[in-house]
Amino acid sequence: MITRVLVANRGEIAVRVIRACHEEGIAAVAVYSEPDRLAPHVRDADAAVLLGAAPAAESYLDIKKLITAAKESGCQAVHPGYGFLSERAAFAQACDEVGLVFIGPPAQAIRAMGDKTEARRRMQAAGVPVVPGTAAPLRDPVEARREAKRIGYPVMLKAVAGGGGKGMRLVGAESEVEAGFQAARREALKAFGDGSIYVEKYLERPRHIEIQVLADRHGRVIALGERECSIQRRHQKLIEESPSVAVSPALRRRLAEAATAAAGAVGYVGAGTIEFLLTRSGEFYFLEMNTRIQVEHPVTELVYGVDLVREQLRIAAGQPMRVHGAAAAGGGGGVLHPRGHAIECRITAEDPLNDFLPASGVLQYLRVPSGPGVRWDGGVEAGQEVTLFYDPLLAKLIVWGETREVAIQRMRRALSELVIVGLPTSQAFHLRVMDDPDFQKGAVDITYLERAGARVLAATPRPGLERALAVAAALVADEHRDRPPPRLLTDRPPQSSPWITTSRQEALRGGRGGRGGRDGLE
Ligand code: ADP
Repeated sequence: MITRVLVANRGEIAVRVIRACHEEGIAAVAVYSEPDRLAPHVRDADAAVLLGAAPAAESYLDIKKLITAAKESGCQAVHPGYGFLSERAAFAQACDEVGLVFIGPPAQAIRAMGDKTEARRRMQAAGVPVVPGTAAPLRDPVEARREAKRIGYPVMLKAVAGGGGKGMRLVGAESEVEAGFQAARREALKAFGDGSIYVEKYLERPRHIEIQVLADRHGRVIALGERECSIQRRHQKLIEESPSVAVSPALRRRLAEAATAAAGAVGYVGAGTIEFLLTRSGEFYFLEMNTRIQVEHPVTELVYGVDLVREQLRIAAGQPMRVHGAAAAGGGGGVLHPRGHAIECRITAEDPLNDFLPASGVLQYLRVPSGPGVRWDGGVEAGQEVTLFYDPLLAKLIVWGETREVAIQRMRRALSELVIVGLPTSQAFHLRVMDDPDFQKGAVDITYLERAGARVLAATPRPGLERALAVAAALVADEHRDRPPPRLLTDRPPQSSPWITTSRQEALRGGRGGRGGRDGLE
């Protein structure tokens, strides 16, 4: 039985996991670095443990500190979120060794999928199509040239340990192999401490389509449809949607079969994602598996009516998954059907008009969109300082609509309501993509931004948005003139507070005095 979970992450995903814990009646313990002491995830948790200084190596990436925090705060399980330690087999194993449940797959599944060449071999053995390329790391540029010639240019040199689009180089001709190989190796060494490189065929203008899978310990592995993640910049996703306009029910069934076979082949347990590239002629190839919850999981939740994080918690506790309509999907390979359409925009602290330069500063004012079909998964609040220490993702804006057209209209409306003052964000970029005729037609592939970027970014700003921003900026300036900057965050000591723990427990039991109580609702 799991009654207390350590959330080994920060930002929006930590808040998301804490919410799921509370809905399941589970207490959540946050961890934080010094600059995060007043962050929403710390305040929302039932207790919080300081890990150390700002650099991730001294806080969110320190396995020893996290294990100690979990043990000392009485947790039985650890949720790693995404990023940080979520795909480190060593972390899953360290949890195992001290009797903590790692909320994710077994360490061996993370290891198998974390090594891209091993994953490719396993997938081939399971009958899942992989991008043509090498099944083992390359020794040197000479071997890279030989293999690239066999596969045919253009090719992609990729880090075996890759992730986050790092350690990847497109090579168009033999003369570029040496430089590409060295650059990919350098980047991979720096990012992953492992410079191994392999080569695969570069596919021309494919779509990035991924399948959500869930597997429990009762032998069920199900696929929850696809997400289209083709709107990317430097191989990193910016906008995701479900379903994809390019996926017919028949193709969805074939993708689901490949994805469940892939998960089954590594003894997968929990929530995971199988990424594929879908070519223009309709063939699909395995790209990689992410052995964790994805940033873009909410679009699947909205069209399949599933709470993936709550399912993760249930599965980790050894319970069978509970998916609406899943009886029809059964273990027998039935297919679930998406309802309506969902779109997610990643709201990042980056300046789209300045080559997406990461931004830092105090978030002075925040107006969160709401209303029908709008979901805001945020990790920041007004008054908070955004630093350059961590990922620039501030929040995710997700909408649902009966059709894709309605979802786009709703996203435009929601983006126009959003006001962020204090630092540049990707908001205006998203608004312009929603206005773009190619996006509206669904005519996208992974090169969309390279091709449409200039046009999209040069588009005229929308007067409504500019006006809202100006009004908000004026309001903030006015507040600052009359009194000291708003202290919007509490000065509750960030250490574990017995008062908060007690009131939260009461709330969870449905008692009085907590937020889960019925006060004010009747
Ligand atoms: P990472 O693990 O670093 O995220 P992936 O293998 O998932 O790397 O690839 C990320 C993105 O890079 C893909 O979504 C796609 O846009 C591009 N990409 C990767 N491999 C290829 C390929 N063989 N051909 C074309 N594009 C590719």
